[in-house]
Amino acid sequence: PLDKDELGTSTWGFLHSMASYYPEKPTTSQAKDMDKFFTLFGEFYPCEPCAIDFREDIKAHPPKTKTRDELAKWLCERHNTVNKKLGKPVFDCSKVHERWRDGWPD
Ligand code: FAD
Repeated sequence: PLDKDELGTSTWGFLHSMASYYPEKPTTSQAKDMDKFFTLFGEFYPCEPCAIDFREDIKAHPPKTKTRDELAKWLCERHNTVNKKLGKPVFDCSKVHERWRDGWPD
């Protein structure tokens, strides 16, 4: 089985990649589906204490699914909430596409 940290690192990789490749201008239906995705994700994420806190967090900060940039920034902020809780460094959300889509400049 994956431990909590391995699961977390792989999951964040998937979620941030998904956000950075989300359409720049999604249709209304895509925006609704992405909103649902995060609700369902929070329901079934297989780390119970993580999922409980994530559900609370997205209740207070619902998914922003109108554009790619908004979604990527919103998700970065959710990850930073977890980073703060765990005493990890906060990530600069202006660099989220560089990290997860475009690659760092040389
Ligand atoms: P990770 O936090 O896994 O990050 C991986 C990489 O993402 C980093 O190396 C960095 O390059 C990049 N990154 C870091 N911050 C950001 C950001 N804000 N935006 C974009 N990219 C970023 N663990 C617990 O112990 N308790 C919990 O309650 C908990 N809740 C979680 C909830 C969710 C939804 C998820 C997906 C994971 C959760 N985890 C939790 C796991 C935790 O977030 C980490 O994944 C784990 O501690 C391993 O950390 P890491 O140092 O490998 O880096």
